[in-house]
Amino acid sequence: MTLQAWLTAAGGAVALVLLGWLALTRTVLGRGLAVPLRAMFVKPETASYPEAPRPTAPRFHGRHQLNRYADGLEKCIGCELCAWACPADAIFVQGGDNTEEQRFSPGERYAEDYQINYNRCILCGLCIEACPTRALTMTQEYEIAADSREGLIWTKDMLLVDPPEDGYDTPHTDREVRDRGLNYYGGLAVTPPTRKGGSFAPATAAPLQRAGAVVPRRELPLVPPGTGDAEGEPDGDGGSAGAGDA
Ligand code: SF4
Ligand code: SF4
Repeated sequence: MTLQAWLTAAGGAVALVLLGWLALTRTVLGRGLAVPLRAMFVKPETASYPEAPRPTAPRFHGRHQLNRYADGLEKCIGCELCAWACPADAIFVQGGDNTEEQRFSPGERYAEDYQINYNRCILCGLCIEACPTRALTMTQEYEIAADSREGLIWTKDMLLVDPPEDGYDTPHTDREVRDRGLNYYGGLAVTPPTRKGGSFAPATAAPLQRAGAVVPRRELPLVPPGTGDAEGEPDGDGGSAGAGDA
């Protein structure tokens, strides 16, 4: 092949490449075709779901759970604030009264019935912000699909976590709760300091000391259900420490 033929062929190739580049970058069709062309050279990322699901983002909002205190008492006090905060009207709470013989939570009330309708829930998290006792929190679990609408309505027994290892299931009697000597709400430990001069001043030493005295202990003197004390005091004398502190 002569030099002139080589030059002609090279010029043609360059012109073709230029035309292709212009077509891919300057036309709508070309820009659209460039996407799959680029994807052909990207290393594929394959997740083996559901055998090895990927971890979610640290602050991912998954399904809810209802929490308990360390001894098994439910944190939910049936106040319905979560239901009122919900923009999708997805929460139903039916409050009930604790009695001396049957105590499900500290204070006067507990959630007799609690339901979250995941047909409606948008997992926004406003309900957990509204909860005053941190009874309601969100997990990172997202596998809540069901094949019926009824299956997406989670009831209290589905949402309530199991009692911790050193706790036991509700109900307790007032007597059992009183014997633990706990302040279930943490008292001053969760009370914000006073506001002074536009900024939050630190709590003084005295409230801090009192707060230290009411933080729940890890070592709980548990009383198994149905057992009285050695001195034979009657149950349910209305002196529940948890209820009183509420
Ligand atoms: S996450 Fe949002 S939509 Fe779902 S129950 Fe809570 S407040 Fe309602
Ligand atoms: S989950 Fe929280 S806000 Fe909702 S009823 Fe129970 S205590 Fe009240």
